[in-house]
Amino acid sequence: MIETPENAIYCLNDEIGFVSLIQHIGDDCTIVNSARVSFGKQIKSIEDKDKKLIKYLLANKHETPLEHNSLTFLVKCPLFVARQWLRHRIASINEISFRYVEAAEEFYIPQSFRKQSENNRQASIQGDFGEQEEHNKEIFDLAVKESYLAYKKLLAAGVAREQARAVLPLATYTQYYWTVNLRAFLHFIKLRAHKDAQFEIQQYANAMLLQVESIFPETISIWKELNKT
Ligand SMILES: Cc1cc2nc3c(=O)[nH]c(=O)nc-3n(C[C@H](O)[C@H](O)[C@H](O)COP(=O)(O)OP(=O)(O)OC[C@H]3O[C@@H](n4cnc5c(N)ncnc54)[C@H](O)[C@@H]3O)c2cc1C
Repeated sequence: MIETPENAIYCLNDEIGFVSLIQHIGDDCTIVNSARVSFGKQIKSIEDKDKKLIKYLLANKHETPLEHNSLTFLVKCPLFVARQWLRHRIASINEISFRYVEAAEEFYIPQSFRKQSENNRQASIQGDFGEQEEHNKEIFDLAVKESYLAYKKLLAAGVAREQARAVLPLATYTQYYWTVNLRAFLHFIKLRAHKDAQFEIQQYANAMLLQVESIFPETISIWKELNKT
């Protein structure tokens, strides 16, 4: 696994899963300038009329001027989070390969367990498990340990990494570079920072929005205002 960058934000309270903004292109002016190219005009700093333009673009879904801005993140998350994340097709991805390298013994172990929602078949609700909470942790912990032991035994027996990895649990950490333009990024945040998204991916979405806010302060502030729920 690649080392954790200094600006990483740990997302799952385990000092393993993180997101880190590696590089970016563009700023608030890039959005205004690409929108105003139609009139042959360019700006170097944002004024009130430019904020109005950004608001107009976002409110009316004229979002192509956002596409000239690019964000690259290094992400380390459990496989089940990656499975949801990588459904977002408007992005470029390169992921660590457990065909090339051995999976590390790093798993996401929930700090507390939620109950199944009764009125939303996808969702969970906070639950008080009482004494069962400790048992839940033990069951979870044992399952990932045993899976990893089976993985190591298969490798030791000479089984190829690409086959042995199939016994690893969804809690296994993976790592990838994820590059998106600002339009696709805000679409991701709208869906994945939303309360209906799974808690774990919400933590990543919120951390990324925090990292991007300082790069596009006006745009993100207007976007937040328009997307208030
Ligand atoms: C709360 C929640 C629950 C979900 N539950 C499920 C589930 O139960 N099962 C399931 O399978 N998925 C589920 N999903 C995933 C969901 O269906 C989408 O695959 C995922 O959110 C990516 O959204 P997207 O396609 O808009 O984004 P992207 O793939 O990033 O695409 C961005 C936008 O580009 C355009 N676009 C991209 N590709 C095409 C295309 N081929 N044709 C036309 N326009 C395109 C669309 O406008 C799209 O909104 C869930 C997502 C959320 C947030």
